[in-house]
Amino acid sequence: MSSELWKEALRYFPGGVNSPVRAAVKPYPFYVSQGKGAYIYTEDGNSLIDYVLGYGPLILGHANEYVKEKVIEQIEKGWLFGIPSRVEIELARKISLHMPSIEKIRFVNSGTEATMNAIRLARGYTKRDKILKFNGNYHGAHDYALVDAGSAASEFGVPNSEGIPQEVLKTVIVCEYNDLQCVEKKLKNEDVAAVIVEPVMGNMGVIPPEKDFLKGLREITSTYNTLLIFDEVITGFRLSMGGGQEYFGVSADLTTLGKIIGGGFPIGAFGGKREIMDMLTPSGKVFNAGTFNANPISMTAGLATLEVMERENVIEKTTYVAEKVTEELERIKYPHVINRVKNMFQIFFGVEKVSNATEARRAKKEVYLKFQVNLMKNGVYFPPSQFESVFTSLAHYDDNVISDTVLAIKKSSELS
Ligand code: PMP
Repeated sequence: MSSELWKEALRYFPGGVNSPVRAAVKPYPFYVSQGKGAYIYTEDGNSLIDYVLGYGPLILGHANEYVKEKVIEQIEKGWLFGIPSRVEIELARKISLHMPSIEKIRFVNSGTEATMNAIRLARGYTKRDKILKFNGNYHGAHDYALVDAGSAASEFGVPNSEGIPQEVLKTVIVCEYNDLQCVEKKLKNEDVAAVIVEPVMGNMGVIPPEKDFLKGLREITSTYNTLLIFDEVITGFRLSMGGGQEYFGVSADLTTLGKIIGGGFPIGAFGGKREIMDMLTPSGKVFNAGTFNANPISMTAGLATLEVMERENVIEKTTYVAEKVTEELERIKYPHVINRVKNMFQIFFGVEKVSNATEARRAKKEVYLKFQVNLMKNGVYFPPSQFESVFTSLAHYDDNVISDTVLAIKKSSELS
């Protein structure tokens, strides 16, 4: 039973969990025993249609057969060597084919490592210390990213984590998302190594960039010789095969990736212009290393996932599901706004517009939570936090899954 497991978990783990958002499920987290396709199965014998999907990586759904076969084949051959293997080249080739701005890449193990290293590299390359980020963007759980951070950092009221040295905080400048004037002013007055941005904000719910925001960032950063880092940990291979940069037609100097490119296994990556990437050890003097970097299981699962995506038009199918679900959400009587870009979306109650983190924080979180709990009772799992994105998968591209979801939304919409 989940209730018993939870009691025990509280003894072993701070807050009962190993990553904070997992504790946001009310009244206590359910424990998962299995996942298949669009469904997860709980220790209490319930099944739920899963719109969280591991917070983004599982764009094919749970335990996809093709990915599973490839991973098992790899497991037969061994799972860690600390020696290069063929599959890392195959995955790199595929990524740079779809994302031409990535001429060279380094595979690491999480989105956190990806942004931490991309930032260090930008500093090494430009010989400048400061970085600029946006309020509510989440770039992982390292010191330079935990300033006005979204996602669980906002959900649990610590957008600015304790334990980060003042000296570090002084190097991080924050602007409001979609505010180009702020960026222009800061870059003009201070030496900034890099601007890091989520092309679509997926960590304050979903917030799209306003028209010309990303293009404007490209122009301003070029003017001041500041690097532009697109954090595509969520948007890479989600908005399009070429990520946010292809979707919005803006090229980045450095790109960080994670989630989908590991097919559900731990991964991160950062890549970009050859001349910048070559500053990385062993060809350059900016250090990065990792026991598990480019481990063959994550490489294999990621490659298999991208192969399925190429074959099956996954982005359009997952977008179709998102359209059907949001059409039903539109009908909810309680005043709300829905932000959707392709296959990622979120609903905000009690507000008319959400175009930055400050506006997102004004939404009625308690109404969202009530809706989320109602949905769970009706067999659908939406993120347990307002500040996460709803995702769809290839496995959701199914009439029964869609009609069951629509019915659950209808039954869950009494919110006043
Ligand atoms: N960047 C973005 C945009 C993310 O959404 C996340 C995680 N949700 C990260 C970085 C950090 O990735 P990880 O959790 O794999 O460290």
